[in-house]
Amino acid sequence: MQHHIRPCQAAACPPLALVPDSAERAWSRAAIALLQGDGHRSSDTHLLKPLFSGLGGVSIYLKDESTHPTGSLKHRLARSLFLYGICNGRIGPGTTLVEASSGSTAVSEAYFAKLLGLRFIAVMPRSTSRQKIEAIQSFGGECHFVEAAGDVYDESLRVAHQTGGYYLDQFTNAERATDWRGGNNIAESIFRQMESEEHPIPEWLVMSAGTGGTSATLGRYIRYRNLETRLCVVDVENSAFYDAWRTGDMQTVAAGSRIEGIGRPRVEPSFVPGVIDHMIRVPDAASIAAAHVLSERLFRQIGGSTGTNFFGACWIAATMLRAGRRGSIVTLICDSGQRYADTFFNPDWLRESGIDIAPYRRMIERFLDHGEFIGPEL
Ligand SMILES: *Cc1c(COP(=O)(O)O)cnc(C)c1O
Repeated sequence: MQHHIRPCQAAACPPLALVPDSAERAWSRAAIALLQGDGHRSSDTHLLKPLFSGLGGVSIYLKDESTHPTGSLKHRLARSLFLYGICNGRIGPGTTLVEASSGSTAVSEAYFAKLLGLRFIAVMPRSTSRQKIEAIQSFGGECHFVEAAGDVYDESLRVAHQTGGYYLDQFTNAERATDWRGGNNIAESIFRQMESEEHPIPEWLVMSAGTGGTSATLGRYIRYRNLETRLCVVDVENSAFYDAWRTGDMQTVAAGSRIEGIGRPRVEPSFVPGVIDHMIRVPDAASIAAAHVLSERLFRQIGGSTGTNFFGACWIAATMLRAGRRGSIVTLICDSGQRYADTFFNPDWLRESGIDIAPYRRMIERFLDHGEFIGPEL
């Protein structure tokens, strides 16, 4: 018996054969293939295990996100935001892309926009460093300036509206654009790379927060996989995250951080406090001292937020040693220190900023070499 299936009976409904496989869909398929190709090439960044003689049975691992094609962990975020926009039908062949960012995110997004042949506009404070502006422009991105840092959000919306474009909105979409259950996200990559280690399930993951997206992915993944690993988020001076997590007040505001990429003046919508087991606030001098010490131990420079991460990892390692525990701790190298030659690695900048890293430097070195506990003054 033959069935006559006629799902489309309304007069206004065109015959299926005439529903176009539009140029738009063909473009999306090609774009997704390009983005997935990039993901396959760059997701499994190295997991480093430097040897520190003072740490006994506690190992600190560092996932090196500075080796992505655009030099930071924001490479993953930018790729996810593009996939999210395309798969939601919001980004097509002629879409102008807009973002509020003066930093690493805009550099990575400019790269992906160029890869897909799209116009990209970064909305940023006029005070943004020449170096970052040049990096964005080198990928064909345009920079649109505002006077006050707090104006970037509204101005991005306005520019997107005016150009008929799409606001990528990292500070809202970071936590939702990432495939947190798998898809070789950063958490899955870490746990797979740890499989043959002496302590394959880390006691702690340690991560700082900018958008909060990476800590959200890590925290959700360890819960989803039913692991005993705990997540410690390290915050910095003048950031809203720590107090918000402690008090539960998501309206908390702060002055804004000196450590680029992390610490925010407001609690960003993409920050997910419920998946965080513990938070530590690290002094800026300790973050920068840790960036100096780790750069020397790795024979190459790493950035300030990596210093924050590393100091937090040392702090947790110290408490594990004190409790007689063995095990592993994993944190991230977020970007390279080359971006901070004029600031964190410049003695004049440190002096002018009133930052003395010497005491923290001695403290960290004593700990790494002799396992002497980081003092209680924190
Ligand atoms: C964005 C950023 C972070 C924080 O990552 P999030 O996932 O946004 O919380 C840390 N370090 C650097 C250099 C960054 O650019």
